[in-house]
Amino acid sequence: MVGSGPAGYTAAIYAARASLAPLVVEGFRAGGVRGGQLMTTTEVENFPGFPDGITGPDLMDRMRAQAERWGAELVTDDVESVDLTSRPFSVTVADGTTVHAHSIIIATGATAKRLGIPSEKKFWSAGISACAICDGASPLFARQPVAVVGGGDTAVEEALYLTKYASHVHLLVRAPKLRASAAMAARAEADPRVTVHYSTSIADAVGDARGVMTGLALINADTGKPTGDTLSVRGLFYGIGHTPNTGVLGGQVATDAAGYIELAHGPSTSVDGVFAAGDVADTEWRQAVTAAGSGCQAALAAERWLAARGLLPEPGAVAAATAPEARNEEAAPPAAPAAPTGEIDASQDLHQGQAALRKLYHESPRPLLVLYSSPSCGPCRMLKPVLRAVAAEYVGRVHLVEVDIEADPEIAQAAGVGGTPTIQLFYRKGLVADMPGVKNKRDYRAALDGVLEKEGGDGAAAAAADRQVAAK
Ligand SMILES: Cc1cc2nc3c(=O)[nH]c(=O)nc-3n(C[C@H](O)[C@H](O)[C@H](O)COP(=O)(O)OP(=O)(O)OC[C@H]3O[C@@H](n4cnc5c(N)ncnc54)[C@H](O)[C@@H]3O)c2cc1C
Repeated sequence: MVGSGPAGYTAAIYAARASLAPLVVEGFRAGGVRGGQLMTTTEVENFPGFPDGITGPDLMDRMRAQAERWGAELVTDDVESVDLTSRPFSVTVADGTTVHAHSIIIATGATAKRLGIPSEKKFWSAGISACAICDGASPLFARQPVAVVGGGDTAVEEALYLTKYASHVHLLVRAPKLRASAAMAARAEADPRVTVHYSTSIADAVGDARGVMTGLALINADTGKPTGDTLSVRGLFYGIGHTPNTGVLGGQVATDAAGYIELAHGPSTSVDGVFAAGDVADTEWRQAVTAAGSGCQAALAAERWLAARGLLPEPGAVAAATAPEARNEEAAPPAAPAAPTGEIDASQDLHQGQAALRKLYHESPRPLLVLYSSPSCGPCRMLKPVLRAVAAEYVGRVHLVEVDIEADPEIAQAAGVGGTPTIQLFYRKGLVADMPGVKNKRDYRAALDGVLEKEGGDGAAAAAADRQVAAK
């Protein structure tokens, strides 16, 4: 299975229960975080079975736990390429491993689109964001005017969510009316904290001499001409739709002009033995429950396909493959840092909160890896165990400090944190690396190794040796 949104995890649950020994390459960065699009939303009110609603990250954690409980092997990494030209198929993972499978389910979902305005790169994670739910709580936007661009449900949801933090929210809609559902559109239009600007698009973001984003130059979408106005905002959030994540297939599976996988006979693709589920093959419904339903169909279809060819695994082989020691590195996730108690023990590797950060910053000789997160940020939740696992490779040589920017806004402001997750690496009271968003594990290791190597010590070499031992 490739992908871990509702489609991937549901397929994994069904395949595992059918003793198919599924391996799920969950994704990490290339096509969105592990858990998929719902990791970037707050309440999900329409997934059956949760009468009081559930947050997107909680729902995805539950699906993941269910897949794991039934024996699916989960790998939090990206697939880099697939070879579907001969069977068993080959799947190459970003860590360099190649796995072989008789059948594959593609459930790679879709990724948020970017506008591509000239200053996008300059202000990315420093004013411009594709995830209001992740970045809205940043001190950068607290009691400041912000804008959301887009006219669908996502954009409206983001605009309403941002009213919790911003002084005012401008919703910029290219069309003369909202595409969002009637109920959502009515909520936005009735909310005094939201101004909807119709027939409006964005020429570029503008900033001051310090590089702080201060506004947006606007275009009249009807005439295509600049309005000459600059809308004064400190943030711009994208809610302009998604692109299907099919690049990894290298054109080996038939897609439509927009890149969505074409299906025939239910979940079957143009390649015999390859099935697809969820948003990656859905131009129309794109809901968590429809994705989950199609994941179920894909797993049942794969099971029938394997059975018809005598390719179902032997029961013994499944038991061995799903034994705890055969599972991925997060089967036993490193322990969470102790909650701050007042006394900060600098001999410990893992810490929480600004008191620990301040003390270690001033007193500890070790490199300090700091994760700034916010409670509603799904990618932060996914990244925490990953960073803890990376820190565990450097026992006694680094500190990992986790800071909740809602609980400790002052320290996030002092550190110039523009969104979550952000990772900063400090050493000897200096900022060595500022890494907004989710990076690959190798990027965090490289930053740490760089500091440890510069010290002339054998820290990096020792960590590399530890990693090799752990891999064996
Ligand atoms: C802000 C927002 C709010 C929403 N709210 C709701 C709601 O309330 N109710 C509802 O029903 N729906 C909602 N949706 C829609 C819903 O999230 C999607 O329909 C659903 O998540 C699609 O599931 P999926 O499994 O197809 O793909 P996704 O959720 O997109 O997951 C795709 C998975 O594939 C992985 N992946 C991608 N590329 C690779 C690769 N190269 N290698 C490995 N893995 C890869 C990703 O990491 C991810 O795990 C919302 C969507 C958004 C954006």
